[in-house]
Amino acid sequence: MTVATPTTPALDLTAIRAQFPILSERVRGKRLAYLDNAATTQKPEAMLQALDHYYRKQNSNVHRAVHELAERATTAYEGARDRIAAFIKAPREQIVFTRGTTESINLVARSFLQPRIEPGDEVLLTTMEHHSDIVSWQLAGAKTVAAPLDDDGTLIFDEWLKLLGPRTKLVAVAQVSNSLGTINPIEDIIREAHARGIPVLVDGAQGIAHMPVDMQALDVDFYAFSAHKLYGPTGFGALYAKREHLEAMQPWQGGGDMIRTVAFSGSTWNEVPYKFEAGTPDMAGAIGCAAAIDWLDAIGLEAVAAHEHALLEYGTQRLAEVPGLRIIGTSPRKAGILSFVMDDAHPQDIGSILDMEGVAIRTGHHCTMPLMERFGVPATARASLAIYNGQDDIDQLVNGLMKVHRLFA
Ligand code: PLP
Repeated sequence: MTVATPTTPALDLTAIRAQFPILSERVRGKRLAYLDNAATTQKPEAMLQALDHYYRKQNSNVHRAVHELAERATTAYEGARDRIAAFIKAPREQIVFTRGTTESINLVARSFLQPRIEPGDEVLLTTMEHHSDIVSWQLAGAKTVAAPLDDDGTLIFDEWLKLLGPRTKLVAVAQVSNSLGTINPIEDIIREAHARGIPVLVDGAQGIAHMPVDMQALDVDFYAFSAHKLYGPTGFGALYAKREHLEAMQPWQGGGDMIRTVAFSGSTWNEVPYKFEAGTPDMAGAIGCAAAIDWLDAIGLEAVAAHEHALLEYGTQRLAEVPGLRIIGTSPRKAGILSFVMDDAHPQDIGSILDMEGVAIRTGHHCTMPLMERFGVPATARASLAIYNGQDDIDQLVNGLMKVHRLFA
């Protein structure tokens, strides 16, 4: 059965796909249907060229040298900060470069939270958080408290509100759940937390590439994301933070670039954001991330969201055709993630059979063990969408799942 779905007129899928060299790879002798985008996205030609150009024409260490290559590298690198800041509508000095979402959250845990808490103080989370948004707070000495979810994977807001108490020193929440696709009501969460004087961190790992974000409008305290989930390179990401927090926080790593003066009697720190950027940074990562943003912005996040939403609806309907398949995460506010289990087949087997059919999905707990426990499953199979996916990818997935059903039923 083919279900008609609304498509965004502006989106030319053939042209978009042509910009991703890896999508023409054949895997296991089959056409590749890449549906593992929540783990990492594929890279467009413009991003690959920016990395190549950097290493061929600009490579040098940034900031301290007078020679021309250092100047080129520094201009491109700091230009990337402007580009990333503009993308999320934030002032450039409030963008701290990190290795990704995980490091951004750890930075907040160590530099912001740890010095401000006493034993028994809490970070309020949701049951759907990624491990990096759980363990980082525990390592900083906080007690982690998680608000419950409905059976469809929606945060029970009233219960979350009840858990917001005098011991809550920080609220942290995923913008979009990587395992369910649930879009959390971050505006309401920020409003309620702020009304009680509690700062909020939004884990934007699964939001940044799928919907527009505006740091000014959101008024969030901290926002963390990774470039590799945004069509950019691995090993690079950023933390947005309110200026007052960055000024008040102590650095968490020492080394070059984060200092103003160094003496054996004591050292002083560079201005923000540099005081949080110790050591030679990932210049290529920043430049590649900015190129990916340029590329994505040219399509427009509204068009991306509309395309992925239409495809999510198509995928949801088509998966219903597979006997014994149950989708985990059916919230009415949902981004392009289809997590599911099947009656007789373990997710690992589903993933292996799909792989033989050229379909790349992810299986396991997706770094959300408490969430798996909530739904009483050890693991799920997860198909996750990106801008280059189309109905043909979903059809290939469903054909593969019919094969799984035939083999295991
Ligand atoms: N938070 C969420 C919701 C994620 O999906 C991920 C990665 O899958 C992370 C955090 C961690 O991102 P990274 O591994 O890029 O640091």
